[in-house]
Amino acid sequence: MGQAVTGPAPEEPEQQPLFDWADIGPAQSPRSAFRDSPEARRMLGVREVFAEPAALDSPRGRQIMARLPGVSVTEVPGHWRIPALHGNDGNVGRWVRIKTETLVLGIKHHLVTRPNGRSADWIAPGPSNGCAMACAYCYVPRRKGYANPITLFTNIEAIVAHVRRHVRAQGPKTVPNQCDPHSWVYDIGENGDCSVDALVCDNTADLIAAFRVLPTAKASFATKFVNPDLLALDPRGRTRVRFSVMPDHDARLLDLRTTPVAERIAAAADFLDAGYEVHFNLSPVVLRPGWETDWADLLTHLDDVLPARVKDQAACEIIMLTHNQRLHEVNLGWHPRAEEVLWQPALQETKRSQNGAVNVRYALSVKRDALARLHRLLATRTPWLTVRYAF
Ligand code: SF4
Repeated sequence: MGQAVTGPAPEEPEQQPLFDWADIGPAQSPRSAFRDSPEARRMLGVREVFAEPAALDSPRGRQIMARLPGVSVTEVPGHWRIPALHGNDGNVGRWVRIKTETLVLGIKHHLVTRPNGRSADWIAPGPSNGCAMACAYCYVPRRKGYANPITLFTNIEAIVAHVRRHVRAQGPKTVPNQCDPHSWVYDIGENGDCSVDALVCDNTADLIAAFRVLPTAKASFATKFVNPDLLALDPRGRTRVRFSVMPDHDARLLDLRTTPVAERIAAAADFLDAGYEVHFNLSPVVLRPGWETDWADLLTHLDDVLPARVKDQAACEIIMLTHNQRLHEVNLGWHPRAEEVLWQPALQETKRSQNGAVNVRYALSVKRDALARLHRLLATRTPWLTVRYAF
């Protein structure tokens, strides 16, 4: 769900508050109990926890463990690269089971907000890393190995305090940009899915509560999971949820363990009515025979089912597929059909990243042509849908 690093972290000078910075009380737990439902447990039914001792001792760690009675706990020196979990990319049966049944608790020591400028103005230090879902193209596990269950960072009060200081240091946003015309936008879910995290802890709720009272800033996260508990968090317009959508034909092949696309779209009005800003990520756009027809159908569906109040405030991002040679090799071992569409050497070019990984993206001319076609579809099928950026 992430964005590129574009520069060093900004300084965070202390200064007098610009606004009335009321202290934020602890987030209210969601009133509904979706997190306790069988459906929620199918997504995340935690049976084992690996935890740093300091994370276990923290208030958030204790709160999480109180909801997991009888679950075995293994103390680990650090949340990073736990041999029993990370890197076991050859065994997909265990890979998906790990994502479903394992939770890691850690402390996030390096609190940095990074500039972005595309989807968001800033990338906030995330409250988690890893995901219980298993999209075939996901880059989130790239640094930990491919079986990357959710790691929750329990020092959420430090993360929230850091973000509040950062927002305060920016002052009001005076120049509109593609991220937002009025507010500084902070992506809070770069390396995971905040909706799924909320099944087992209140980190997402705490961040939404924090932004609720920040008049110059807005939280933003992309999601492929509809968690009705989020409807009770009262974001008051200060959190943007971006439902990722793709044609059903692609989603059934690539978006493993996620909420069906039609249900994500159907949830948009509920989230708007609950106080969220609701945008869409057309993501990733995968080029394969028939892609244009299927995207046209998806856009027509959006136009048919979304009420006017959702359309009036909606915008979207278009993100063309990027891939990775190592992930391609892993996927061939368990999901080769996905690679038939993800790995298209005739259309793609490679680029070696600073850490030596070989990343793959559509060649410039291919991408330009596809984006032009997609823009034409948007103009005819969903003329109300502003494109904030295409990447
Ligand atoms: S929802 Fe899919 S793409 Fe997003 S973090 Fe989870 S596995 Fe990755």
